[in-house]
Amino acid sequence: MTDTPGLPPASSDTCDFPGHGGRLLTLEEARSRILSDVAPVAGDESVGLQDALGRILAGPVHSATDVPAHRCSAMDGYALAGRELGSEGSSALELAGISRAGHPYGGTVGPGQCVRIMTGATLPDGTDTVVMQEHVRLEGGRVMVGIGHRTGQHVRPVGEDMRRGELVLGPGTQLGPAQIGVLAALGVARVTVRRRPKVAIFSTGDELRPLGEALAPGQIYDSNRYMLRAMLARLPVEVLDLGLVRDSREDTRRAFETAAAASDALVTTGGVSVGDADYVAETLERHGKVVFWKVAMKPGKPVAFGRFGAACFFGLPGNPVSAMVTYCQLVQPALYALAGTTDAGPTLLLRATCTTRLRKSPGRLEFQRGVLEQQPDGAYHVRSSGHQGSAALHSMSEANCFIVLPLEQGDVEPGAEVQVQPFAGLL
Ligand code: AMP
Ligand code: MG
Repeated sequence: MTDTPGLPPASSDTCDFPGHGGRLLTLEEARSRILSDVAPVAGDESVGLQDALGRILAGPVHSATDVPAHRCSAMDGYALAGRELGSEGSSALELAGISRAGHPYGGTVGPGQCVRIMTGATLPDGTDTVVMQEHVRLEGGRVMVGIGHRTGQHVRPVGEDMRRGELVLGPGTQLGPAQIGVLAALGVARVTVRRRPKVAIFSTGDELRPLGEALAPGQIYDSNRYMLRAMLARLPVEVLDLGLVRDSREDTRRAFETAAAASDALVTTGGVSVGDADYVAETLERHGKVVFWKVAMKPGKPVAFGRFGAACFFGLPGNPVSAMVTYCQLVQPALYALAGTTDAGPTLLLRATCTTRLRKSPGRLEFQRGVLEQQPDGAYHVRSSGHQGSAALHSMSEANCFIVLPLEQGDVEPGAEVQVQPFAGLL
């Protein structure tokens, strides 16, 4: 067994597909194989800013204006010329008028004068300084300004936030609320974004039924497809839901063909292990291209990646928690890459003290479901969220993080430090 330099040691578990050195890939290896295979989709479109949340910028955005475009006040107070500020005692200034946001003072402020000014209002000609209203006294119609002020204070200069011509957002940026705010501040009503990759999904399994139908003995509801759709809804992708596919060689091949013809990526659940009715890996092997189909992780060891026609293919395990974990760790980063974003960096990992005992056998990188809480002293504590079976969705819904246990780790005793991956931004 050989290990790739720089990567964590591989599992001793073997992989019976050729070309993998007779061992399972580590998660890092699997991820880097996927990312080296996936290129951003071609094509872009123009969308209104109100529809741009989550979309990926196709090109750079340069500021067409200075923001702010005029010198303006950062405070409610009085605008004056810095030379009026005395070094001792108070200066008594005549109030010449008012400048409100959207209603500038039209005149020029002369010697011995000041103007009442509100936050965001344009600084009148003849002024360069704002004194906060809390720092003046009004005496017989005069504005008394004390000492301790500085010329230029509380003034937002032209272009302080963004300068005309400046690169404000790079290509590949995913537009979140802050980026949409920036575009709005620049007056940009429409943006050119990358086309959303089309992602086809289907579930496999004769035991599965769609919601709304009564279950016959031995049948279960198809939870995976609803879960997948919910996770994909947060991504800049278009989902093509092909429903349920029966466990037959012919149906599986036909579903692959339909899906691949209409999509950039194909995500399925079930049928990737070595059971009698597992036609997904077989179809990929016979009619597509397998890159890998097992990874040294738990849950989620049977997970396939490859190509079918021009579409990239992800075959997730049937057990719902395995499907969710493999989606988060492998599919989501790939779909971000396919969508063309440069932003989807590695997710946050924290160190926390584990307060419950965790059972773990060495050999696979394990993602257990945990509840992460911050203590009054700021320290993080994490505990198991319940039964850790790969079909146990309830403990997934109780969790707010994965507890990430390294490949060679054994049982974890209470009080040990562990690594956790919060769901925020992941799920
Ligand atoms: P498989 O990988 O097809 O052998 O499925 C493994 C386990 O996951 C079996 O218990 C299946 O019944 C279950 N399973 C497969 N697909 C789904 C699904 N879409 N929703 C819920 N459970 C599923
Ligand atoms: Mg099945």
